[in-house]
Amino acid sequence: MDARGRLIEAMLDGLAVLLPVECAGCGTADRGICADCRSALVAPDRAGRHLLVAPGAPASGSGDLPLWFAVGYEGVPKEILHALKESARLDGARPLGRLLGVAVADALEAIEPRLPAGARLETLVVPSSRSAFRLRGYNPVESLLRWAGPQPHRATGLRYRRTPRDQASLGADERWANLSGSVEAVSTRLEGRHLLLIDDVVTTGATLLECRRAAECGGASVWGAAALAHTAKVKRTNSELHGDLVSQRVYGGGKGAESNRPRLGRRVLD
Ligand SMILES: [Zn+2]
Repeated sequence: MDARGRLIEAMLDGLAVLLPVECAGCGTADRGICADCRSALVAPDRAGRHLLVAPGAPASGSGDLPLWFAVGYEGVPKEILHALKESARLDGARPLGRLLGVAVADALEAIEPRLPAGARLETLVVPSSRSAFRLRGYNPVESLLRWAGPQPHRATGLRYRRTPRDQASLGADERWANLSGSVEAVSTRLEGRHLLLIDDVVTTGATLLECRRAAECGGASVWGAAALAHTAKVKRTNSELHGDLVSQRVYGGGKGAESNRPRLGRRVLD
């Protein structure tokens, strides 16, 4: 984040504290996130885990990207993240960042022993498109990561070479087409680096897999991804068959997908 972004973030943080506002989680009048919503943001003991697979990837599993995530994208975390992204409610960054920290910690624990001798893992935040950054003045994922606890060195070096359409209204196959080729590595900054990608919400994984493609084109090794939340819910489209095939591979289908959910310290978020 540049100096302007940090300044805007600090000012918005201050405003959220100083001005009377509604709770970002439930909308009741409060000066910030209310006690009930805070108590619903209990960190899970362990992160959930999924394998993200690009369409057309070989069945050998060599193209899989492991994802660690803290919570399902629903309920209070969903509302607070939505407020953070769409209404500059940066007071949500701290509690959500702590949840993201569970996914980051579990990813580090799993990946670091497998790195080549002498290599170090670095985090790399999924970039904001230029238009999204202009609109908000900050990258929401950076805001979360600030509160995600101990973590390794941060790498930068990905950017959008074109602005994709907003993903929210797109079906699974449309997301792949929308993102494909949209990200690029900046010069040689990522050459030889070992990366853990960081995002806020993962649906099909199209964004993360596009970032991995671009990072690998830039000479990096991508070992996995960590996210605050995961959801398998994608808008239904006529070409749903393709999306269903992908999601069965990614999520293991019905019962398996459910058993992969993170184990919560308290079951408030279910
Ligand atoms: Zn609330």
